[in-house]
Amino acid sequence: MDNKIDILSLYPEEIEELMGRLGEPKYRAMQIFAFLSKGASLDEMTNISKKLRERLSQICEMRLPKVEEKLVSKIDGTVKYLFSLIDGECVESVLMRYNHGNTLCVSSQVGCRMGCRFCASTIGGRVRDLTASEILGQIIAAERDTGERVSNVVMMGIGEPLDNFDNTVRFLRLVNHEKGLNIGYRHISLSTCGVVDGIYRLAELEFPITLSISLHASNDEKRSEIMPVNNKWGINDLLTACVDYYAKTGRRISFEYTLISGKNDTPEDARELASLLRNAFAESDAPVHVNLIRVNEVSETGFSRGSRESVDRFADILNRMGVTATVRRRLGADVNAACGQLRRAKRQ
Ligand code: SAH
Repeated sequence: MDNKIDILSLYPEEIEELMGRLGEPKYRAMQIFAFLSKGASLDEMTNISKKLRERLSQICEMRLPKVEEKLVSKIDGTVKYLFSLIDGECVESVLMRYNHGNTLCVSSQVGCRMGCRFCASTIGGRVRDLTASEILGQIIAAERDTGERVSNVVMMGIGEPLDNFDNTVRFLRLVNHEKGLNIGYRHISLSTCGVVDGIYRLAELEFPITLSISLHASNDEKRSEIMPVNNKWGINDLLTACVDYYAKTGRRISFEYTLISGKNDTPEDARELASLLRNAFAESDAPVHVNLIRVNEVSETGFSRGSRESVDRFADILNRMGVTATVRRRLGADVNAACGQLRRAKRQ
C-alpha cells in the first residue's frame, strides 16, 4: 500500500509517463486526468480497457476524501463537511454560497503545528500533511456531493498551507489545469499565519492568487503572545515579504484580523494597525484590505468575542485613517463550529 501511486496527485505529463511504462498510448493520460477531476473511480472509466483499469487499480491508490459528516445551514445553505481520508484521519471543508458562485474553504494539513492560541485546529498539533490529491479531492468530493461547480477556493481550513509547501503548489497547479477543475488563479486565495520564507518562495512562482495574511495584532509583543510564529518572523519581516509578493504578482494583499475581546480590539489597537499598514506600504501602490472578524469562541482557549459595536468602531477607525476595512459576514453560523472543532469532536 505504501508504494502505491497516488494517481490523483499526478500532473497529466506524469500520467503520460505512467502510460508509457504500461505500454499504453499517451492520449489515455488526458482522458484519465479529466475523469479523475470529476471524481470518477477507476471502475467508472469505461472508455478505457478493463485490462488497463485492473492494472491501474493494482498499482494506484485513490485518495479522494469521503463525506463522513455533512451539516447544512438552515440560514444560508452553507455546507460544512467532515471528510475522512484513506488512513481514517479527518479534515473539514466549508462550502459557501454567494451570488457570484460557490466558494470552498479547504484544509491543507491534518491538524497544525503553528500554535495560534485562539485556534482549534492547532490544539492537538500536526498529525500529517495532506497530499495534493487530498486537497484537490475536497473540491471534487464537494462538487460531486452537491452537483454544483465550485468556482472559488480559499485555503483557509485546517492547517498552514505554506508549512506543506510542495503539496500546496502541486495542488494549485492541478486545480488550475484547464483539463482538470480549471479554477483560475484569480479565484484562489491562500491564507498564511506568516511563514515568511514560504511567502518569498510562493512569490517566485508568480501565480496570480490572492495572499491573505492572518495578522491579528499590530505590534510584535501582542502578536507573539497569540501567534508563536511571530517569534521566528516578526511583523516587519512579514510586511516586507508582503510588499515583495505584490511587486512580483501584482495581486492585492488581504489582512485577516480576528478581534479578541480585551486583547487586540481597542481603538488604540485600530490606530496602531492603520499606521503600521500605511507605513509598510508607503512606497508601494499595493491595495491593502483588512477583513475583520470577531473571534469564534473555542472552549479550550478562553478567548471571548466582543460586541458587534466594537468591531464596527474598529472598522471605522481604519477606514477613516485610509485603510479599507470590512467586517466579514458570518456564514453558516448554525453549523460553523469554529474551524477545526468538528474534527476534534469526532476524535474524542
Ligand atoms: N494557517 C492559515 C490558514 C488557516 S486558519 C492561517 O493561519 O492563515 C484561517 C483563518 O482563521 C486564519 O486567519 C486564522 O487566524 C483564523 N482563525 C483561527 N481560529 C479562529 C477563531 N477561533 N476565531 C476566528 N478566527 C480564527
